[in-house]
Amino acid sequence: MQFGDYRVEIIPDTEFWLDGGAMFGVVPRVVWERVCPPDEKNRVRLNMNCVYIDTGKEKILIETGIGEKWSAKKIEMYGIRRERPFAQSVFELTGCRPEDITVVINTHLHFDHAGGNTIFQSSTPYEGGVDAAGSAVDEDVPEQPRPQFPNARYLVSKSELEHAEAPHERDRASYVPENWQPLQESGQLKLMPDEYEPVPGLKLQTERGHSETMQTWRLDRGGKTMYGFADLVPTRHHLDPAWVMGYDLYPTEF
Ligand SMILES: [Zn+2]
Repeated sequence: MQFGDYRVEIIPDTEFWLDGGAMFGVVPRVVWERVCPPDEKNRVRLNMNCVYIDTGKEKILIETGIGEKWSAKKIEMYGIRRERPFAQSVFELTGCRPEDITVVINTHLHFDHAGGNTIFQSSTPYEGGVDAAGSAVDEDVPEQPRPQFPNARYLVSKSELEHAEAPHERDRASYVPENWQPLQESGQLKLMPDEYEPVPGLKLQTERGHSETMQTWRLDRGGKTMYGFADLVPTRHHLDPAWVMGYDLYPTEF
C-alpha cells in the first residue's frame, strides 16, 4: 500500500502457538478462552507480522519473525507451522530478495521478532532466489547461522542489546544469541539510542512495560500516522489494560 510517499507492506511470517496462561496473565482461562480457544496443550494461536517500508532510498524491514533455525523439538514445543520461508513471503509481497533489504530494525531481540535476522545455509530456499540459500552443507559440521540480509544494517537499541546479553530469569528463554551474534561478527549490527529516526518520518522510541528496553515505532507520512506497538499490545485482545501478558516484566507500567 502507498503511505504518503512511502510504500508499506505487512509481511506475515508464520503461525505459532504459545501458552494461553502466559499470553493473558491474570485473566482467567474461562474468560480468555471465549475469544482465543486453546488447543489440547492450552496453547493459543498467534501469528507474527513484520513490516516493509520502501522510502525510495531505503528498503526497510521491521522485525524478521521467528526464523528457520529451530530443532524439531522446539518446532513442536512452539507449534511453529511454517508454510513458506520468510524470504519467500518478503519476495512475493515486495519483489525484494534478501540482498535488496538495506535496513532491518528490531524493536527488541526476543526470538519471535529477531529470529529471521540470521539463517542456516541449509534452510529451505525460497522460489525466485535459490542462489542465496539452500546450498549443500556437510552434515558432520555444526551449522553456523549467517545474516539473512547480507547488505542490511541491522538497527537495535544499545539498551536492548545489553539486556539481551544479560537477561532477567523471566525472559532469558526469549533471547537466542545466534539471532544477533553473527551480525556483530559481520559488522552489520548498529547500536542505536533509546529514541531515533532512521529515515524521515519513522521514529523509534523505548517504551517500558513488556521490558525496560523494547521499542515501538511510529510512521508519519502524508498526514497519516501508523503505529507499531510491538509486544506492548501483542494482539487486539490486549487493548484492554487488564489483559497483559505474563511474559511482561513491568505489567503495571505503560
Ligand atoms: Zn517480546
